[in-house]
Amino acid sequence: MEFETVIGLEIHAELLTATKIFCGCAPKFGDAPNSHGCPVCLGLPGSLPVLNRRVVDMAIRMGLAVGCEISHNSVFARKNYFYPDLPKGYQISQYDMPLCTNGAIDIEAEGAKRNVRINRIHLEEDAGKLIHDQDADSLFDVNRCGTPLIEIVTEPDLRSGQEAYAYLTAIKQILEYLGICDCNMEEGSLRCDANISIRPKGETKLGTKTELKNMNTFRGVEKALAYEALRQRDAAASGEAIVQQTFRWDPDRNRTVVMRSKEEAHDYRYFPDPDLLPLVVDDAWIRRAAETMPELPARKRARFIADFGVTPYMADVLTLEAAIAKYFEETLAFCKDAKLVANWVMGEVLRFAKEKKISVASLSVTPRRLGALLGLVAEGALSANAAKRAFDIMEMQDKDAAAVVAEEGLTQISDTGELSKIVKDVVAKNPKEVQRYKAGETKLMGFFVGQVMKATGGKGNPREINKLVSELLGQG
Ligand code: ADP
Ligand code: ZN
Ligand code: MG
Repeated sequence: MEFETVIGLEIHAELLTATKIFCGCAPKFGDAPNSHGCPVCLGLPGSLPVLNRRVVDMAIRMGLAVGCEISHNSVFARKNYFYPDLPKGYQISQYDMPLCTNGAIDIEAEGAKRNVRINRIHLEEDAGKLIHDQDADSLFDVNRCGTPLIEIVTEPDLRSGQEAYAYLTAIKQILEYLGICDCNMEEGSLRCDANISIRPKGETKLGTKTELKNMNTFRGVEKALAYEALRQRDAAASGEAIVQQTFRWDPDRNRTVVMRSKEEAHDYRYFPDPDLLPLVVDDAWIRRAAETMPELPARKRARFIADFGVTPYMADVLTLEAAIAKYFEETLAFCKDAKLVANWVMGEVLRFAKEKKISVASLSVTPRRLGALLGLVAEGALSANAAKRAFDIMEMQDKDAAAVVAEEGLTQISDTGELSKIVKDVVAKNPKEVQRYKAGETKLMGFFVGQVMKATGGKGNPREINKLVSELLGQG
């Protein structure tokens, strides 16, 4: 029997606010343990939560970015469970009345497009952290308690690990464009739980799902889903029932490990939090949030293709991050050759930023400097190789293109008179090669160009040299 894989994802994204969701503590990763806590986030008796307005702004923006309806009324609920990293004994979340509902985004994987519906985006607080040290003690750190999260839940619309990967990438990109999450999976600011089931092709009812946790890269999610899809098929083939369970992905062994069997929602005894009023968002609030929306990746990609004539692949790379797209467009203000600029941004600029582990926005070669450098390339004053050398030096010495080109003597010799003298000289010194060339061995052109190049110290304009040699020896 042929099976279809069905996947739904739940993404938790930590929001980049200055303070936690219900108190004034800073939600900072990496600070000394227990340096950001107060009666509210510790859940001390008598303390009361106050909702952080910026959290709502950010969640509305995310909702709008993925086409959600923004609820005028949503409600915070208590999700009760015992865990040592949850001092209050409950997590404040949203349950049956979330802030955003009914969105969707388009993704593309393996050349096929898919519309992925988003069931909801709700607000919640993060739990604290347990650190399990070597002596089998568990230590508690309150710093993460009350860090604002949005949870983005899809409908079960994904059909493969690759599609899950594409969806995650798209969501991360939107979060990053909106500037509301740093999307650092290793530090846990972006987390993903994956739900997966299989069903016979053509069946419309959903099969029993399992849940996968603990993947800390997008590739990990993709691999874990591929593994689980196969495991479920094997189970089905041998007549084994699929049990609703939660698995942990073990990246070292490349396999899933059972964590627990699934709790049901009623185990959490959700109920509206009596300490918090319903969240009322009026049209004016939504409008204000909408006014601060940046151009989103999909639209930017389409505009780059239409306006600058770059290929879809180039547009993908150039819009990967908002900062890259900005760098590209700013460079165009100084050099109009969009394809040339695109190639350089995709090449040297990204390579350097990656090597230095910094954003392109922090490079010493600013868009203005790169634009000036590429202007010299476009007018033939600088060869591509010389420009690459100049770029390296500009980046290392924090200098303008003109200064580096002058100091290093990188200007290309395009002066026909000067080149012509060298060409004649090379021809005179290599009579045997001239004979062979004239006898039809035209590939010797490379030899002549190489010799002239050498004589110019690599600064000759190869196109000019080629022309001059052809003129002198004939087309061969
Ligand atoms: P739960 O109550 O177990 O949390 P939900 O209905 O809230 O389940 O769904 C959680 C996530 O799991 C959603 O992304 C949803 O699309 C997905 N999901 C639900 N049922 C299935 C299924 N049978 N197969 C795959 N994914 C599913
Ligand atoms: Zn606090
Ligand atoms: Mg659920």
